[in-house]
Amino acid sequence: MLADLDRITARENADLNEKSCASRLESIRERARDLAQNVFGPRAASIDKAEIYPWENCFALRDAGFMGMTIPKAYGGQGLGYREAVVLVEEVSKACGVTGRIAVEANMGAVGAIMAYGSEKQKKIAAELVLEGDKPAICITEPESGSAATDMTTRADKVGDGYILNGKKHWITGGGVSRLHLIFAQVFENDEPQGIAGFIVVRGEPGAEGLSIGKREPTMGLRGIPETEVYLRDLHVPADMLLQPPSGIRKGFGDLMTAYNGQRVGAAAVALGLAVGAYDQAEAFIQQREQFGRPICEFQGLQWMLADMAVQISAARALINEAVNGTGFPDKMKAAQAKLFTSEMAVKVTNDALQMHGAAGYSRNNPVERMVRDARMFTIGGGTAQVLRNVIASDLLGRKFPQTREGYMAYPASKSPVDTLREKVEK
Ligand SMILES: Cc1cc2nc3c(=O)[nH]c(=O)nc-3n(C[C@H](O)[C@H](O)[C@H](O)COP(=O)(O)OP(=O)(O)OC[C@H]3O[C@@H](n4cnc5c(N)ncnc54)[C@H](O)[C@@H]3O)c2cc1C
Repeated sequence: MLADLDRITARENADLNEKSCASRLESIRERARDLAQNVFGPRAASIDKAEIYPWENCFALRDAGFMGMTIPKAYGGQGLGYREAVVLVEEVSKACGVTGRIAVEANMGAVGAIMAYGSEKQKKIAAELVLEGDKPAICITEPESGSAATDMTTRADKVGDGYILNGKKHWITGGGVSRLHLIFAQVFENDEPQGIAGFIVVRGEPGAEGLSIGKREPTMGLRGIPETEVYLRDLHVPADMLLQPPSGIRKGFGDLMTAYNGQRVGAAAVALGLAVGAYDQAEAFIQQREQFGRPICEFQGLQWMLADMAVQISAARALINEAVNGTGFPDKMKAAQAKLFTSEMAVKVTNDALQMHGAAGYSRNNPVERMVRDARMFTIGGGTAQVLRNVIASDLLGRKFPQTREGYMAYPASKSPVDTLREKVEK
């Protein structure tokens, strides 16, 4: 009897939690939509044209409580999860992809890693900056190491009570505007490699003079956020700014990459928002534009395109929701599936939306033209579509497939091409 009552109470509590979660998500969606439609949307074209970082949008996000909302309450945030963050990001990105990306980096990525693995001091530093409106930067990629991230050559040499960092990063989102940096480097102690670790550096702080910003890439889309080189020249980082997951430096890169799954789902949510934004424009346009004396929505060719676009959008949203449907960081496989599907969907849907506009879609006066350019990035940045397919296949087959020649040859579970050849010859 008591057990039955407990079960009923547990179910009621779960129902209540589910209801309050649903109403919280709805409230975030409404407030974000309001900001997107009235503030970010009207500014999006000029941000794209001027290629200037939208500080005013950062402050609008901050004032609405949307910067650092995933930061735990103990550090001044709201302790919300990725479920809430993706709702915010989708709504904002419908109107402005650049601001959507800012919302990602202010709630996922580096912030998530620091809040999960950081010391008290590190969490306080990160929280203070983000809650003030800073969008953190993650520095992994280098000119010679993109998909092969572990080939990075930036090194952090242990010297006394700290590390000296030297190297060059590339394609760093927010280079020159972000203050909080999470920089990845190969750690050496007495010239012995220790593994890859993350270091927290605040640009502009005394002692951080060794961090400087190089050239900015002229990008196809998302032009309001600088993508730059970041130089590290004898940058001194105190030992207490090493971000150390519980597994230590040697295995810690894997944990830090787990945090990156959050960033991947965030990127998927921006791509989703862009697709929905373009879809909305197309749906309205085909009902109002007439050719052959009829609204063009009466042509089945366009109806089927619209139907496919809507289905693809729903499928992408379902994958994203599946990836954030737990606590903690999203699962690697689910994050990879969500980003892969949504990024490719967004490229197709934004292009189809442009096509439905005819010439009007090709004009830079049309937001859909910007959305096509903005969406193109998401099959590349944060793990390319090909690399994500590798991740998914590896999970499906339950095997690691080392991508380097040496790793592949040495891996016991896989037959090397030489073995296969030898077997053929012997037969
Ligand atoms: C707009 C933008 C913002 C970015 N922001 C950041 C940032 O803030 N911080 C950061 O650290 N990085 C950032 N990046 C870098 C991004 O993460 C890399 O571009 C990405 O990891 C791919 O690396 P790459 O460009 O060097 O391509 P490469 O790795 O050189 O790949 C070239 C091609 O080869 C394919 N390829 C490579 N390896 C394999 C493989 N094993 N199997 C199959 N195909 C493969 C790729 O899919 C791609 O098509 C950003 C990139 C962009 C475009």
